[in-house]
Amino acid sequence: MGTPFLQALRACLGDANVLVDGDMDAYEVDWRKRYRGRALAVARPASTAEVASVVRLCAAHAVPIVPQGGNTGLVGGGVPDASGRMLVLSLARMQQVRRVDPDNLTATVEAGCVLHALQAAADAHGLLFPLRLGSEGTCTIGGNLASNAGGTQVLRYGTARELCLGLEVVTAGGEVWDGLSGLRKDNTGYDLRDLFIGSEGTLGIITAATMKLHPRPGWTLTALAACPGIDAAIGLLRTARARLDAGLTGFEVIEGFALQLLARHFPQLRQPLHAPGWAVLLELAADDQASAERRLHAVLGDATARGLVTDAVVAGSLAQARELWQLRESIPLAQAREGLNIKHDIALPVSAIADFLREMDATLHTLVPGLRPVVYGHLGDGNLHFNLQAPQDMPAAVFLDRHEAALNQRVHDAVVARGGSFSAEHGIGALKAAELARRKSPVALAMMRAIRQALDPQGLLNPGRVLPPA
Ligand SMILES: Cc1cc2nc3c(=O)[nH]c(=O)nc-3n(C[C@H](O)[C@H](O)[C@H](O)COP(=O)(O)OP(=O)(O)OC[C@H]3O[C@@H](n4cnc5c(N)ncnc54)[C@H](O)[C@@H]3O)c2cc1C
Repeated sequence: MGTPFLQALRACLGDANVLVDGDMDAYEVDWRKRYRGRALAVARPASTAEVASVVRLCAAHAVPIVPQGGNTGLVGGGVPDASGRMLVLSLARMQQVRRVDPDNLTATVEAGCVLHALQAAADAHGLLFPLRLGSEGTCTIGGNLASNAGGTQVLRYGTARELCLGLEVVTAGGEVWDGLSGLRKDNTGYDLRDLFIGSEGTLGIITAATMKLHPRPGWTLTALAACPGIDAAIGLLRTARARLDAGLTGFEVIEGFALQLLARHFPQLRQPLHAPGWAVLLELAADDQASAERRLHAVLGDATARGLVTDAVVAGSLAQARELWQLRESIPLAQAREGLNIKHDIALPVSAIADFLREMDATLHTLVPGLRPVVYGHLGDGNLHFNLQAPQDMPAAVFLDRHEAALNQRVHDAVVARGGSFSAEHGIGALKAAELARRKSPVALAMMRAIRQALDPQGLLNPGRVLPPA
């Protein structure tokens, strides 16, 4: 039967929706397999009312909660710690698309709705939900909002925050806040919605959201271009922005070594460019095929004439466009297959990126000879994934143990010195909580702690994540 808490939980959700012992494995380990915890139990509520009951129960029994969506987060924020005391609150059964409102260009969905399902629901109405991530077949809208996910279309449509109009949240006390407004304008006091977005489960449980939809572009065209260096890729970005403006919907870069990793671990993926220094994946939207092709060829022609591009392929069909995007989206998987690595999800002013990479090139190898940087990301947003793979002959565990702290410090110092951020889109979770405490100003930290204390006075919502104990 278990403890009185577990008995009450089963009475609330039914036996089948309270998992214990051997049934919890998938919920206790993160996607990267870097964090492996032990949960008290996993609760799988099916409605907002059930979430509220579970949270009230946790408050009464002082049980800490870790909310979990698709468990694709990359900073260890969605899995329990090793204490065996945390309840995993999985939103996976709350998948309903409650309403699509084509005139208001909104969709209201439950938090456990998988991102791809919302994209499909919008598509069924001839509309677009533009958030796009490599994990979109598994990650959930609740998780996207809790981590303020970015992805490959931020350049044109913004992050999850900018795509959200309203939220429904269960507070730490187990009350339901219905803020599911579909309004574009609502200046009635503090913006509570924006507090919960990006709070990584530490301020409340998101149970539903109203998200913005967009008209679907008439035609979308994708190209892969080879650039001799990062300066050339930035030059291409400038050209593409100037000529395409809002028509530019994606601008991703992939450094040559990342392509080599793809060739090693996914040899079945066709790589149409021959060993480029850097590859740029460009996407543009236009009214029709003819204007899309004309505009894209003008950009590539101009960039080629100026030596910014040395080779390029333009997708001739949707299937070919998918293949090009698959290259980009498979890099995290190729890295995982190569072995555990140090991830840096950094944001910099675009104007500072080339200089940052030159400094890293000149200094990191002196710290760890044979280090293998894997660099790719959303150049159009100034967001790079500057990941470090162990030297070929060094086991990953030894690499992390010996070098992670010093490498993080060197990389983050260089980022911060240029006005950048050490977490662009993945959040803080457990991985970067100490870094946040070290690098945020005392004023910012004090305000964050005050907000947390006000909304979760017992400190039961995802403790130890984002803000480490004071
Ligand atoms: C292959 C791959 C590619 C990726 N690409 C990108 C990318 O391009 N851009 C990007 O930003 N991220 C990317 N990610 C990271 C990840 O997919 C996103 O952060 C995603 O938004 C997480 O959603 P999830 O449902 O899996 O959340 P989870 O991993 O389950 O949780 C993430 C955090 O949110 C909290 N949380 C989850 N649901 C709720 C809820 N309902 N209420 C309150 N808190 C909640 C959790 O406690 C945790 O702290 C990628 C991950 C993978 C594996």
